[in-house]
Amino acid sequence: MRWPGILAYFAEYLPVTAATPLLTLEEGNTPLIRSTSLEKRLGVGALFFKFEGMNPTGSFKDRGMVVAIAKAKEEGKEVVMCASTGNTSASAAAYARRAGLSCIVLIPQGKIALGKLSQALMHGARVLAVRGNFDDALRIVRFITANYPVALVNSINPYRIEGQKTAAFEVVEWLEGVPDILALPVGNAGNITAYWRGFKEFFERGKTRALPKMFGFQAEGACPLVLGKPVENPQTVATAIRIGNPASWKGAIAARDESGGLIDAVSDEEILLAQRMLAEEEGLFVEPASAASLAGIMKKAREGVFRGKETVVCILTGHGLKDPDIAVRQNEGKIEEVEPREEAVVELLGLGGERP
Ligand SMILES: *Cc1c(COP(=O)(O)O)cnc(C)c1O
Repeated sequence: MRWPGILAYFAEYLPVTAATPLLTLEEGNTPLIRSTSLEKRLGVGALFFKFEGMNPTGSFKDRGMVVAIAKAKEEGKEVVMCASTGNTSASAAAYARRAGLSCIVLIPQGKIALGKLSQALMHGARVLAVRGNFDDALRIVRFITANYPVALVNSINPYRIEGQKTAAFEVVEWLEGVPDILALPVGNAGNITAYWRGFKEFFERGKTRALPKMFGFQAEGACPLVLGKPVENPQTVATAIRIGNPASWKGAIAARDESGGLIDAVSDEEILLAQRMLAEEEGLFVEPASAASLAGIMKKAREGVFRGKETVVCILTGHGLKDPDIAVRQNEGKIEEVEPREEAVVELLGLGGERP
Protein backbone atom coordinates (compact mmCIF):
# COMPACT_ATOMS: atom_id res chain seq x y z
CA MET A 1 0.00 0.00 0.00
CA ARG A 2 1.14 3.51 -0.73
CA TRP A 3 1.27 5.52 2.52
CA PRO A 4 -1.25 8.40 2.22
CA GLY A 5 -0.04 10.52 5.16
CA ILE A 6 -1.67 10.77 8.56
CA LEU A 7 -4.75 12.86 7.69
CA ALA A 8 -5.98 10.20 5.28
CA TYR A 9 -4.72 7.10 7.11
CA PHE A 10 -5.98 8.07 10.58
CA ALA A 11 -8.94 10.23 9.39
CA GLU A 12 -11.47 8.52 11.69
CA TYR A 13 -9.42 9.59 14.72
CA LEU A 14 -8.72 13.15 13.55
CA PRO A 15 -10.85 16.31 13.16
CA VAL A 16 -11.19 15.65 9.42
CA THR A 17 -14.41 16.81 7.75
CA ALA A 18 -15.51 16.83 4.12
CA ALA A 19 -14.10 20.36 3.92
CA THR A 20 -10.64 19.51 5.30
CA PRO A 21 -7.94 19.49 2.61
CA LEU A 22 -6.02 16.19 2.79
CA LEU A 23 -2.71 17.98 2.94
CA THR A 24 0.33 15.71 3.09
CA LEU A 25 4.08 15.41 2.67
CA GLU A 26 3.61 11.71 3.55
CA GLU A 27 4.44 12.31 7.22
CA GLY A 28 4.09 9.50 9.74
CA ASN A 29 4.64 5.76 9.20
CA THR A 30 8.08 6.17 10.74
CA PRO A 31 10.33 3.19 11.49
CA LEU A 32 10.18 1.30 14.77
CA ILE A 33 13.69 -0.09 14.93
CA ARG A 34 14.74 -2.85 17.33
CA SER A 35 17.96 -2.30 19.26
CA THR A 36 20.81 -4.63 18.44
CA SER A 37 23.21 -4.03 21.32
CA LEU A 38 21.91 -1.59 23.92
CA GLU A 39 18.87 -3.68 24.83
CA LYS A 40 20.99 -6.45 26.39
CA ARG A 41 23.24 -4.05 28.25
CA LEU A 42 20.33 -2.13 29.73
CA GLY A 43 18.64 -5.27 31.02
CA VAL A 44 15.26 -4.77 29.40
CA GLY A 45 13.32 -7.42 27.50
CA ALA A 46 13.13 -5.52 24.22
CA LEU A 47 14.13 -2.01 23.24
CA PHE A 48 12.73 -0.24 20.18
CA PHE A 49 13.48 3.17 18.74
CA LYS A 50 10.71 5.05 16.95
CA PHE A 51 12.71 7.24 14.60
CA GLU A 52 10.60 10.36 14.18
CA GLY A 53 13.55 12.04 12.48
CA MET A 54 12.33 10.19 9.37
CA ASN A 55 9.38 12.55 8.98
CA PRO A 56 9.54 14.86 5.92
CA THR A 57 11.09 17.84 7.72
CA GLY A 58 13.09 15.64 10.08
CA SER A 59 11.05 15.76 13.29
CA PHE A 60 7.77 14.56 14.80
CA LYS A 61 6.43 18.12 14.55
CA ASP A 62 5.14 17.26 11.06
CA ARG A 63 2.37 15.05 12.50
CA GLY A 64 0.74 17.91 14.37
CA MET A 65 1.62 20.56 11.84
CA VAL A 66 -0.10 18.85 8.91
CA VAL A 67 -3.37 18.86 10.90
CA ALA A 68 -2.95 22.44 12.18
CA ILE A 69 -2.16 23.81 8.71
CA ALA A 70 -4.93 21.82 7.00
CA LYS A 71 -7.45 23.21 9.51
CA ALA A 72 -6.09 26.77 9.11
CA LYS A 73 -6.55 26.38 5.35
CA GLU A 74 -10.06 24.97 5.84
CA GLU A 75 -10.94 27.96 8.05
CA GLY A 76 -9.77 30.37 5.35
CA LYS A 77 -6.67 31.63 7.17
CA GLU A 78 -3.88 33.06 5.04
CA VAL A 79 -1.09 33.55 7.56
CA VAL A 80 0.18 31.19 10.26
CA MET A 81 2.59 31.99 13.07
CA CYS A 82 4.59 30.13 15.70
CA ALA A 83 7.30 30.54 18.30
CA SER A 84 9.92 27.88 17.91
CA THR A 85 13.16 26.42 19.20
CA GLY A 86 13.56 25.29 15.58
CA ASN A 87 11.67 22.20 14.52
CA THR A 88 8.22 23.76 14.77
CA SER A 89 9.33 26.58 12.49
CA ALA A 90 10.85 24.16 9.95
CA SER A 91 7.63 22.15 9.88
CA ALA A 92 5.30 25.17 9.85
CA ALA A 93 7.25 26.75 7.01
CA ALA A 94 7.14 23.58 4.88
CA TYR A 95 3.45 22.78 5.39
CA ALA A 96 2.41 26.43 5.03
CA ARG A 97 4.07 26.49 1.63
CA ARG A 98 2.47 23.20 0.70
CA ALA A 99 -0.94 24.70 1.53
CA GLY A 100 -0.24 28.07 -0.11
CA LEU A 101 -0.19 30.01 3.17
CA SER A 102 2.46 32.38 4.44
CA CYS A 103 4.33 31.74 7.65
CA ILE A 104 5.92 33.91 10.35
CA VAL A 105 8.26 32.37 12.92
CA LEU A 106 9.67 33.86 16.10
CA ILE A 107 12.87 32.23 17.28
CA PRO A 108 15.00 32.91 20.35
CA GLN A 109 18.03 34.79 19.03
CA GLY A 110 21.18 32.72 18.64
CA LYS A 111 19.65 29.60 20.18
CA ILE A 112 18.45 27.77 17.10
CA ALA A 113 20.24 24.87 15.41
CA LEU A 114 21.59 25.53 11.94
CA GLY A 115 19.69 22.79 10.11
CA LYS A 116 16.34 24.00 11.42
CA LEU A 117 17.03 27.63 10.59
CA SER A 118 18.05 26.70 7.06
CA GLN A 119 14.72 24.92 6.57
CA ALA A 120 12.57 27.85 7.72
CA LEU A 121 14.54 30.21 5.48
CA MET A 122 14.45 27.95 2.43
CA HIS A 123 10.69 27.50 2.72
CA GLY A 124 10.34 31.27 2.64
CA ALA A 125 9.09 31.90 6.17
CA ARG A 126 9.48 35.38 7.62
CA VAL A 127 11.93 34.73 10.46
CA LEU A 128 12.13 37.11 13.43
CA ALA A 129 14.85 36.53 16.03
CA VAL A 130 13.58 37.73 19.40
CA ARG A 131 16.17 39.09 21.82
CA GLY A 132 14.92 36.75 24.53
CA ASN A 133 14.16 33.08 25.10
CA PHE A 134 11.49 30.70 23.77
CA ASP A 135 9.03 31.62 26.49
CA ASP A 136 9.26 35.29 25.47
CA ALA A 137 8.67 34.36 21.84
CA LEU A 138 5.61 32.25 22.68
CA ARG A 139 4.12 35.04 24.81
CA ILE A 140 4.35 37.44 21.87
CA VAL A 141 2.88 34.91 19.43
CA ARG A 142 -0.07 34.31 21.75
CA PHE A 143 -0.73 38.05 21.85
CA ILE A 144 -0.52 38.54 18.09
CA THR A 145 -2.64 35.52 17.16
CA ALA A 146 -5.28 36.52 19.73
CA ASN A 147 -5.56 40.04 18.33
CA TYR A 148 -4.85 39.78 14.60
CA PRO A 149 -6.07 37.49 11.76
CA VAL A 150 -3.12 35.12 12.10
CA ALA A 151 -3.46 31.40 12.98
CA LEU A 152 -1.39 30.11 15.88
CA VAL A 153 0.31 26.78 15.10
CA ASN A 154 2.23 26.15 18.33
CA SER A 155 1.30 23.02 20.24
CA ILE A 156 -1.25 24.99 22.29
CA ASN A 157 -3.23 24.74 19.04
CA PRO A 158 -5.33 21.63 19.84
CA TYR A 159 -4.96 20.29 16.28
CA ARG A 160 -1.22 19.86 16.86
CA ILE A 161 -1.82 17.46 19.76
CA GLU A 162 -4.46 15.63 17.71
CA GLY A 163 -1.97 15.01 14.90
CA GLN A 164 0.86 14.04 17.20
CA LYS A 165 -1.19 11.34 18.93
CA THR A 166 -1.01 9.29 15.70
CA ALA A 167 2.52 8.26 16.66
CA ALA A 168 1.04 6.32 19.59
CA PHE A 169 -1.35 4.58 17.16
CA GLU A 170 1.59 3.49 15.02
CA VAL A 171 3.46 2.12 18.05
CA VAL A 172 0.42 0.00 18.95
CA GLU A 173 -0.16 -1.17 15.37
CA TRP A 174 3.45 -2.10 14.69
CA LEU A 175 3.99 -3.82 18.07
CA GLU A 176 0.50 -5.35 17.97
CA GLY A 177 0.03 -4.09 21.53
CA VAL A 178 1.39 -1.43 23.82
CA PRO A 179 4.94 -1.38 25.20
CA ASP A 180 5.40 -1.52 28.98
CA ILE A 181 7.24 1.79 28.90
CA LEU A 182 7.21 4.67 26.44
CA ALA A 183 10.16 7.06 26.93
CA LEU A 184 10.40 10.49 25.36
CA PRO A 185 12.04 13.90 25.79
CA VAL A 186 9.84 16.62 27.26
CA GLY A 187 10.10 20.33 26.44
CA ASN A 188 6.84 22.18 25.98
CA ALA A 189 5.15 18.85 26.88
CA GLY A 190 2.81 18.70 23.89
CA ASN A 191 4.21 15.38 22.73
CA ILE A 192 3.89 13.49 26.01
CA THR A 193 0.31 14.82 26.22
CA ALA A 194 -0.36 13.65 22.67
CA TYR A 195 1.06 10.12 23.10
CA TRP A 196 -0.93 9.59 26.26
CA ARG A 197 -4.11 10.74 24.51
CA GLY A 198 -3.38 8.39 21.60
CA PHE A 199 -2.84 5.36 23.82
CA LYS A 200 -5.96 6.10 25.84
CA GLU A 201 -8.03 6.53 22.68
CA PHE A 202 -6.95 3.15 21.29
CA PHE A 203 -7.64 1.63 24.70
CA GLU A 204 -11.13 3.13 24.85
CA ARG A 205 -11.91 1.90 21.34
CA GLY A 206 -10.82 -1.62 22.27
CA LYS A 207 -7.76 -1.61 19.99
CA THR A 208 -5.51 -2.56 22.92
CA ARG A 209 -6.14 -4.03 26.35
CA ALA A 210 -3.37 -2.25 28.22
CA LEU A 211 -1.70 1.13 28.59
CA PRO A 212 2.04 1.90 28.81
CA LYS A 213 3.82 3.75 31.58
CA MET A 214 4.91 7.17 30.31
CA PHE A 215 8.56 8.05 31.12
CA GLY A 216 9.30 11.71 30.28
CA PHE A 217 12.81 13.16 30.46
CA GLN A 218 13.83 16.79 30.69
CA ALA A 219 17.32 18.28 30.67
CA GLU A 220 18.70 19.12 34.13
CA GLY A 221 19.06 22.82 33.27
CA ALA A 222 15.50 22.98 31.93
CA CYS A 223 13.40 20.68 34.13
CA PRO A 224 10.45 22.71 35.46
CA LEU A 225 8.22 19.61 35.64
CA VAL A 226 10.74 17.86 37.88
CA LEU A 227 11.23 20.91 40.11
CA GLY A 228 7.50 21.68 40.18
CA LYS A 229 8.05 25.31 39.18
CA PRO A 230 9.04 27.27 36.06
CA VAL A 231 12.74 27.75 35.30
CA GLU A 232 13.63 31.38 34.61
CA ASN A 233 16.71 30.80 32.45
CA PRO A 234 16.59 27.30 30.97
CA GLN A 235 19.98 26.00 29.82
CA THR A 236 20.81 22.83 27.90
CA VAL A 237 22.72 21.66 24.86
CA ALA A 238 19.43 20.04 23.76
CA THR A 239 17.90 23.22 22.32
CA ALA A 240 14.61 21.56 21.34
CA ILE A 241 13.78 21.02 25.03
CA ARG A 242 15.26 24.27 26.34
CA ILE A 243 11.93 25.42 27.78
CA GLY A 244 11.34 26.85 31.23
CA ASN A 245 7.54 26.99 31.41
CA PRO A 246 5.88 24.21 29.37
CA ALA A 247 2.59 25.14 27.70
CA SER A 248 1.17 21.63 28.24
CA TRP A 249 2.24 21.38 31.90
CA LYS A 250 -1.05 19.82 33.07
CA GLY A 251 -1.08 17.30 30.21
CA ALA A 252 2.40 16.09 31.14
CA ILE A 253 1.55 15.66 34.80
CA ALA A 254 -1.68 13.82 33.90
CA ALA A 255 0.22 11.48 31.54
CA ARG A 256 2.75 10.73 34.28
CA ASP A 257 0.23 10.17 37.07
CA GLU A 258 -2.53 8.36 35.15
CA SER A 259 0.00 5.96 33.59
CA GLY A 260 1.99 5.34 36.77
CA GLY A 261 5.06 6.70 35.01
CA LEU A 262 7.62 9.35 35.87
CA ILE A 263 9.24 12.59 34.72
CA ASP A 264 12.92 12.87 35.54
CA ALA A 265 15.93 14.94 34.48
CA VAL A 266 19.15 13.94 32.68
CA SER A 267 22.36 15.95 32.40
CA ASP A 268 23.77 17.35 29.18
CA GLU A 269 26.67 14.87 29.51
CA GLU A 270 24.20 11.97 29.72
CA ILE A 271 22.30 13.33 26.72
CA LEU A 272 25.43 13.65 24.57
CA LEU A 273 26.64 10.19 25.63
CA ALA A 274 23.29 8.67 24.64
CA GLN A 275 23.41 10.55 21.33
CA ARG A 276 26.86 9.06 20.65
CA MET A 277 25.77 5.55 21.64
CA LEU A 278 22.80 5.70 19.30
CA ALA A 279 25.07 6.78 16.47
CA GLU A 280 27.96 4.40 17.15
CA GLU A 281 26.11 1.31 18.31
CA GLU A 282 22.72 1.44 16.63
CA GLY A 283 23.45 3.44 13.46
CA LEU A 284 20.91 6.09 14.40
CA PHE A 285 21.85 9.77 14.22
CA VAL A 286 19.51 11.97 16.24
CA GLU A 287 19.65 15.51 17.53
CA PRO A 288 20.62 15.97 21.20
CA ALA A 289 17.08 16.50 22.56
CA SER A 290 15.99 13.20 21.01
CA ALA A 291 18.69 11.32 22.88
CA ALA A 292 17.16 12.39 26.21
CA SER A 293 14.77 9.42 25.93
CA LEU A 294 17.63 6.90 25.81
CA ALA A 295 19.66 8.88 28.37
CA GLY A 296 16.69 8.58 30.71
CA ILE A 297 16.31 4.84 30.14
CA MET A 298 20.07 4.42 30.78
CA LYS A 299 19.65 6.31 34.06
CA LYS A 300 16.71 4.10 35.09
CA ALA A 301 18.77 1.01 34.19
CA ARG A 302 21.53 2.21 36.55
CA GLU A 303 18.92 2.71 39.25
CA GLY A 304 17.87 -0.93 38.85
CA VAL A 305 14.35 -0.19 37.65
CA PHE A 306 14.18 -2.97 35.01
CA ARG A 307 13.54 -6.70 35.47
CA GLY A 308 14.74 -8.01 32.09
CA LYS A 309 11.23 -8.45 30.74
CA GLU A 310 10.01 -4.96 29.84
CA THR A 311 9.30 -3.82 26.31
CA VAL A 312 10.57 -0.25 26.06
CA VAL A 313 10.01 2.18 23.19
CA CYS A 314 12.26 5.24 23.05
CA ILE A 315 10.96 8.05 20.87
CA LEU A 316 13.75 9.63 18.82
CA THR A 317 12.08 12.94 18.10
CA GLY A 318 14.38 14.55 15.53
CA HIS A 319 17.14 13.84 13.03
CA GLY A 320 20.83 14.39 13.83
CA LEU A 321 21.33 16.52 10.73
CA LYS A 322 19.23 19.20 12.39
CA ASP A 323 22.13 20.21 14.58
CA PRO A 324 25.38 19.55 12.72
CA ASP A 325 27.36 22.06 14.84
CA ILE A 326 27.05 20.01 18.01
CA ALA A 327 27.98 16.80 16.22
CA VAL A 328 31.06 18.32 14.61
CA ARG A 329 32.13 20.13 17.79
CA GLN A 330 32.05 16.85 19.70
CA ASN A 331 34.41 15.27 17.19
CA GLU A 332 36.91 18.10 16.92
CA GLY A 333 40.43 17.03 15.97
CA LYS A 334 39.23 13.70 14.62
CA ILE A 335 39.79 14.48 10.96
CA GLU A 336 43.31 13.46 9.88
CA GLU A 337 44.99 15.34 7.06
CA VAL A 338 47.05 13.47 4.52
CA GLU A 339 49.10 14.20 1.38
CA PRO A 340 47.37 13.31 -1.92
CA ARG A 341 49.59 10.21 -2.45
CA GLU A 342 48.62 6.52 -2.25
CA GLU A 343 51.65 5.61 -0.11
CA ALA A 344 50.88 8.38 2.38
CA VAL A 345 47.37 7.01 2.92
CA VAL A 346 48.64 3.42 3.20
CA GLU A 347 51.20 4.52 5.77
CA LEU A 348 48.74 6.63 7.78
CA LEU A 349 46.26 3.75 7.91
CA GLY A 350 49.03 1.39 9.03
CA LEU A 351 48.19 -1.09 6.29
CA GLY A 352 51.91 -1.99 5.88
CA GLY A 353 52.93 -5.19 4.10
CA GLU A 354 54.18 -5.56 0.54
CA ARG A 355 53.53 -2.86 -2.02
CA PRO A 356 51.00 -4.14 -4.54
C1 LIG B 1 9.70 19.79 19.97
C2 LIG B 1 10.73 18.77 20.25
C3 LIG B 1 10.81 18.11 21.48
C4 LIG B 1 9.93 18.45 22.64
O1 LIG B 1 8.58 18.14 22.43
P1 LIG B 1 7.48 18.87 23.33
O2 LIG B 1 6.19 18.50 22.71
O3 LIG B 1 7.78 20.33 23.25
O4 LIG B 1 7.64 18.35 24.71
C5 LIG B 1 11.76 17.13 21.63
N1 LIG B 1 12.60 16.81 20.64
C6 LIG B 1 12.57 17.44 19.45
C7 LIG B 1 13.54 17.05 18.40
C8 LIG B 1 11.63 18.43 19.21
O5 LIG B 1 11.61 19.05 18.03
